[in-house]
Amino acid sequence: MAKRKSTVKKESWQLTILGCGTSSGVPLLFCTCVVCRSRDPKNHRLRTSAWLQIRGKSILIDTSTDLRQQALKQRIPRVDAILYTHPHADHVSGIDEIRSFNFIQRERIPAYGNAWTCEDLRSRFPYIFNPAPKGEGGGIPQIDLHLFDAGSKSFSAAGLEVIPVALSHGSQECVGYRIDGVGYVTDCSTIPESSLKKLENLDCLVLDCLRIAPHGTHLNLERALEIAAHLRPKKTVLTHLGHDFEYKKWSKKLPKGVVLGFDGLTLRGEKRTP
Ligand SMILES: [Zn+2]
Ligand SMILES: [Zn+2]
Ligand SMILES: [Zn+2]
Repeated sequence: MAKRKSTVKKESWQLTILGCGTSSGVPLLFCTCVVCRSRDPKNHRLRTSAWLQIRGKSILIDTSTDLRQQALKQRIPRVDAILYTHPHADHVSGIDEIRSFNFIQRERIPAYGNAWTCEDLRSRFPYIFNPAPKGEGGGIPQIDLHLFDAGSKSFSAAGLEVIPVALSHGSQECVGYRIDGVGYVTDCSTIPESSLKKLENLDCLVLDCLRIAPHGTHLNLERALEIAAHLRPKKTVLTHLGHDFEYKKWSKKLPKGVVLGFDGLTLRGEKRTP
């Protein structure tokens, strides 16, 4: 079988927002607000997740509840590694869809997470990480889970240097990631000073922005814009959006260099010389 490759050139990167919606997705079930009733596809938000193609590798950030739909829509050809931000249901519940990639790639797929993620995944999905003897039950995802310390400088995944970025998600530690000039920071209420330093001089920053009003475990719009103004990446894409944000209305209100995410938004850039 021919090896299924990414079509992005090795000297470029491409980041696709697979989903930019909060944990319930948008529209919310039964909600009759103007955003939830909208027919504009940019107001329809699947659960937050992203696909990064860089240096010839295909990296999935989280296995969202909607992974199957997202992979079909974006035609993800393969997954070289999964980077988990944290184990909340909206970010991990699509884990079984990895079976399709195992089947087509005929190999196990490495996944990476901090202690919270690794412990939680192992206890919630024992059939994956502590499987029954062969011969019982159907196919299960073939995933090798690797633990890292988000305080460390970097770790290697699929041959890429990945910089983990520790984030406070309420009282728990979520992880953002930086690879080359691309930063991905979802589900956080604050970014510690040491982590902000890891996010300087970015080409693109994907940043949590749940809603207008302050929230205990997420950035709201005001906080997200403060962080974008402080870090000054070339472009900031707001994600994990709830139904406060009507796409067209809010797109006009945002400062230069900051955009609302939408499902399928694709950003491209050149890789940096190491
Ligand atoms: Zn979330
Ligand atoms: Zn609504
Ligand atoms: Zn979360």
